Amino acid sequence: MNTSLNRDVVLCEVGPRDGLQNTKTFMPTEQKKAWIAAEVACGVHEIEICSFVPAKLIPQFVDAAEIVAFANSIPELVSTVLVPNLRGFENAVAAGARRVAVPLSASEAHSQSNVRKSREAALADFAAMVDANRAKPEHERATIVGAVATAFGCTIQGLVTEADVIFMTEGILNAGADEVIVADTVGYASPAQIKAIFTKVIRTIGPDVPLAAHFHDTRGLGIANALAAYDVGVRHFDATLGGLGGCPYAPGASGNVVMEDLAFAFEAMGVRTGIDLDALIALRRTVFNDMAGLETYGHLGLAGLPKGFEATTAA
Ligand code: ZN
Repeated sequence: MNTSLNRDVVLCEVGPRDGLQNTKTFMPTEQKKAWIAAEVACGVHEIEICSFVPAKLIPQFVDAAEIVAFANSIPELVSTVLVPNLRGFENAVAAGARRVAVPLSASEAHSQSNVRKSREAALADFAAMVDANRAKPEHERATIVGAVATAFGCTIQGLVTEADVIFMTEGILNAGADEVIVADTVGYASPAQIKAIFTKVIRTIGPDVPLAAHFHDTRGLGIANALAAYDVGVRHFDATLGGLGGCPYAPGASGNVVMEDLAFAFEAMGVRTGIDLDALIALRRTVFNDMAGLETYGHLGLAGLPKGFEATTAA
């Protein structure tokens, strides 16, 4: 998660996981690989590539092990996989995954509905995963990222409090997480709320544990929320090319923060992303061709860069 020499912020593409998980049409394995390789070539060096869930539940990820092997063949790529539980973790690590993200809901109602467990029980499972990881030989161990999901509201419970978020953040840290993500899973957050909660989260986890923000643009505030998080010190952001990732509970709702729009916002502000914007726009226009049922969003892909625009990364 380090920012390398040419980056002030790290943008992680999560489309192959978050963007595709609710897409009924299967993206052929070769198309997934081509997307991953092409986006790395654009300068996006962190990608969440798949999820280790039973193929019965989400057929989109039936090729997860093959995608991990492919990602591992790209030296400059830091790839992450999502795992919902210990079994998924063991399958992921056996397939060669070396960075795993584990969602844990800040909303008790969402935790009960999603994994049929209380938040405390979910944290205990997470701790067991950390222990299982530590028991492995060093070369097989993964970096474990605890993701606080539904941190800014939930479609079942509605309001999620700051205390809920801090409770889960502390629980994840105490369980031994290597890194933390705080996620607005359903796109409820506002910039003021983002600043308040991320300020407290940063105070809670301290300077040594890497922190990332995961936002959805469901209500049009994705970019504003990312810039608000940047203002209070967040330097690592999830996003998806073309804003893939509509919400299954809100038909027609837009998806994750749009990668190319977010990269443009940072570059226009003098913040280096390390990303070639022209190449990224070109990729967005071609990579999803022939994928039925895949909705894309965003502005830069339609309007292009402003005339005479010079990206900070290239300067
Ligand atoms: Zn998400």
